[in-house]
Amino acid sequence: MTAEHYDVIVVGLGAMGAAALYQASKRGATVLGIDRFEPPHTLGSSHGDTRITRSAIGEGEFYLPFVRRSDEIWRELEAISGRALFHRSGGLIIAPPSSSATFHGEGDFVTASARVAGRHGIKHEVIDAEEIRLRHPLLKPREIDRAYYEPGAGVLRPERCIVTQLDLARGAGASIRKGEKVTGYDAGAHSVTVTSERGSYRADKLILSAGAWMADLVPEAYRPGLRVCRQVIYWFEAEDMRAFRPEVFPWVIWIGDALADFWSVFPAPRDGVDGVKLVTEQYHTSTHPDSVSRDVTAEEADDMYYRLTQPRIDGLRNSLIRAETCLYTVTPDEHFVIDFHPDSERVAVASPCSGHGFKHSAAIGETLAQMALDGKAAFDISAFNIARLADVQE
Ligand SMILES: Cc1cc2nc3c(=O)[nH]c(=O)nc-3n(C[C@H](O)[C@H](O)[C@H](O)COP(=O)(O)OP(=O)(O)OC[C@H]3O[C@@H](n4cnc5c(N)ncnc54)[C@H](O)[C@@H]3O)c2cc1C
Repeated sequence: MTAEHYDVIVVGLGAMGAAALYQASKRGATVLGIDRFEPPHTLGSSHGDTRITRSAIGEGEFYLPFVRRSDEIWRELEAISGRALFHRSGGLIIAPPSSSATFHGEGDFVTASARVAGRHGIKHEVIDAEEIRLRHPLLKPREIDRAYYEPGAGVLRPERCIVTQLDLARGAGASIRKGEKVTGYDAGAHSVTVTSERGSYRADKLILSAGAWMADLVPEAYRPGLRVCRQVIYWFEAEDMRAFRPEVFPWVIWIGDALADFWSVFPAPRDGVDGVKLVTEQYHTSTHPDSVSRDVTAEEADDMYYRLTQPRIDGLRNSLIRAETCLYTVTPDEHFVIDFHPDSERVAVASPCSGHGFKHSAAIGETLAQMALDGKAAFDISAFNIARLADVQE
């Protein structure tokens, strides 16, 4: 039997794959998207109701074209679908001036963000602890803390972004196969063959956007460079949810004195979870998405409440409403991978996570569609090359 033939096949329909599928189908290509689960789902990296977005990308100026273009696409998607995908809340990055803790690989993230904002005309302020308390009386910064404040920042709704792009892709003619695991692919001189548990498909081009499972799909030499780290998302009960709505409460990225002190609190959209979302980050233990523990222990919840939350904010009760595990795919320099496959330009590889990819995902999808359909990306993706993973030791 001859395998079905497409212009482009996208493997993995999370944040990046849904965006790539939408963008490729919008351009009139015949496209097939395949996912092993039912996206949006809670087993990968794109769930949890909200994702922070900001314009001054302290991780590096080379991210700016992606976040700017993504903002345009989110607005376009909101207009087409009538769904709210973004809530403006403002955002605060709080840190002491001399912390040794890095955030997404960068030291002194307050200064880095303010520098990028200043150079690119992004409205912002740097405020001291007294001003933070004055504006947000629930927050309890120490005297030495100061904050970068960006009024135009806010939160995206990841599940809705994914659903919207998959719906629009389907409407533009894309075929979508859910609950089907891709087991391999073979890129030849004239086409790519993709094999799944249920069959095989052929295409001119392939986009691999498998999130935390990406290491299973790249050549062995690149695998140690894609480390998967289990994270936990918590929702705690608020004394008054009105104090945490996006109109009055910003997202807060709080960088402490050490990596383990990182803490973040999110504004709670009215139609979201009835609790306040909190996260921390850990990078010391690696896992595999098929064997990771999805259970959240009482010790973990206690650590989140007593060590990280209580000293920093009022207004939250020690009552856990929900907890979900989520996965970071982390490269050694904590930057993304967006590149052609080392062995074939017919295959584009996208691992844009390390905990900060969602805000860029709409434009990354567009970039992946360009790589597949035009043979090159419109934005500079040289910083995201896969070659830098080749020498990583396990
Ligand atoms: C707790 C947490 C908080 C975060 N906070 C932020 C934030 O505030 N702001 C921000 O910008 N970013 C944030 N991020 C990062 C951001 O969410 C990720 O960069 C992004 O979601 C990654 O998307 P993805 O498409 O690579 O992965 P996913 O969305 O997980 O998609 C991968 C898909 O591939 C599928 N798949 C895998 N293997 C196969 C296979 N063999 N066959 C078929 N399908 C397959 C999976 O089922 C999955 O649906 C956060 C991440 C986490 C975990």
